[in-house]
Amino acid sequence: METTVILLKPDCLAAAKAGEVIGRFEAAGFVIRGCKMMQLTSDLLREHYSHLLQLPFYPEIEGFMMSRPVIAMAIAGDNVIERVRDLLGPTNSTKAPKGTIRGDLGKDVMHNVVHASDGLETAAAELKRFFADGELFDIPAG
Ligand code: UDP
Ligand code: MG
Repeated sequence: METTVILLKPDCLAAAKAGEVIGRFEAAGFVIRGCKMMQLTSDLLREHYSHLLQLPFYPEIEGFMMSRPVIAMAIAGDNVIERVRDLLGPTNSTKAPKGTIRGDLGKDVMHNVVHASDGLETAAAELKRFFADGELFDIPAG
């Protein structure tokens, strides 16, 4: 059983779509192991988005992600990392098919509603980055 890290981004909360997005994950059968609201900081984002630091518009991404608090969640299920990425659709919301979260709710490449870990190693690193000991629960499915 894998666990992945989800961030409901500022655009998701601004549009009052947190419930809809969480509902899609619940409908897919995933189990919530952790959930917290947090104001992201520049330091945390520079670590989380280190693969984007060299982009000329990185400051815009950081500004967007700090524009209001986000909700961080840890959700578990079989093959959850890949399945959540499939539910999201591609990074660019304008290219994401209808029926995907980004295709239905996203605006563009930056305002794309949800972050999700993209592999086993990043999921493990992101669990440590966003959740302290005691903030993750072992909850049996069903
Ligand atoms: N992003 C952007 N422009 C880009 C690439 C990324 O605004 O050209 C933003 C976007 O919000 C994206 C986030 O930076 O979700 C992280 O980028 P990544 O390539 O990791 O995409 P993701 O894994 O979120 O699909
Ligand atoms: Mg990514």
